[in-house]
Amino acid sequence: MSQPHQFIPLADARLPLFVGVDLGGTNIKVGVVDDLGRPISWLSIETSPERGPDDGVRRIGKAVIEAIEQAGARIEQVARVGLGSPGTMDIPAGMLLEPPNLPGWFNYPIRSRLSDACGLPVTFDNDANAAAYGEFWVGSGRDLQSMVMFTLGTGTGCGIVLDELVLQGQHSHGAECGHIIIDHHDDAPLCSCGKPGHLEAYCSAKALVRRTQAALEAGHVTSLTAKVDAGQVLTPLLVGGEAEAGDKVSLTIVLDTARYLGVGIVNLMHTVDPNGVVIGGAMTFGGDESPLGRRFLEVVREEVHRRAFPVLAERTMIDFARLGGDAGYIGAAGVARLEHNRLQQSKLNPSAAPSAEDQ
Ligand SMILES: [Zn+2]
Repeated sequence: MSQPHQFIPLADARLPLFVGVDLGGTNIKVGVVDDLGRPISWLSIETSPERGPDDGVRRIGKAVIEAIEQAGARIEQVARVGLGSPGTMDIPAGMLLEPPNLPGWFNYPIRSRLSDACGLPVTFDNDANAAAYGEFWVGSGRDLQSMVMFTLGTGTGCGIVLDELVLQGQHSHGAECGHIIIDHHDDAPLCSCGKPGHLEAYCSAKALVRRTQAALEAGHVTSLTAKVDAGQVLTPLLVGGEAEAGDKVSLTIVLDTARYLGVGIVNLMHTVDPNGVVIGGAMTFGGDESPLGRRFLEVVREEVHRRAFPVLAERTMIDFARLGGDAGYIGAAGVARLEHNRLQQSKLNPSAAPSAEDQ
């Protein structure tokens, strides 16, 4: 994973500092971020989920301290740690429930355990929510008041940010828009969650590979056949590469993904009516940097224009995310900052927020 585009030295940072933790199934990224969302230090460790949650949290705690040292900062300059984690989870309880990406880390009170491990208060949120907040705070959404973000990768993540509110929902499953239904038929493709017809069953890396396999089995003439026969593994990268090289079947598969995503985006536009929709994740075909990425975005926009209320299609910004793999930890630091600011405000104005003793 690439490093952030721009680090700032501690001397230029605005205090307080926040540490963001992006907990993934394979890697954990930890970074120190200043009050304006600018990264100062960054490191990555392996998740090794098979070693269990106690071991994992101990290593995350150590990485938090290391990242603070790397930044040249003192722990007293850090107000709070933000932890973005894959679901399922109970956010208010600070619990992991049954995250499929972290087998064995089930029903685990990760927020309090991490706080014990690093000696700092911890804010806990969904990883897709955190990434969305990162883009909203300092990425593609920095000039927006409300934003929806889709993250295309192994799965299809989503986050919704309305002003300073990151939508979590009553049962910590708000903004699970990878699971909105875009095909109601019983024989629609199955999502990774086991239900048919969800957006993720059309827009994820797995879905793209599944459609490619079907095309190969149906005998479509494509340059992919030779690649697969030579032992190459079917991935979005391979399909994207062939599409760029002029293979029509590959291009259709990539652009169909854009059309499905467009359908999902219109559903969100008609629900939330955000200022903007941002598309991030590993499966964006090179994004703005590549002709295929730009074509992908163009087709998403065409689909939106075809299906959305005209005024929304005209006025809603649709663009690629800007922070890449840094969105997760920067956003996790950002949600920690939101909670820190809320707590500071309720200290200054106790009547605005009922305290535990009042209830
Ligand atoms: Zn699903």
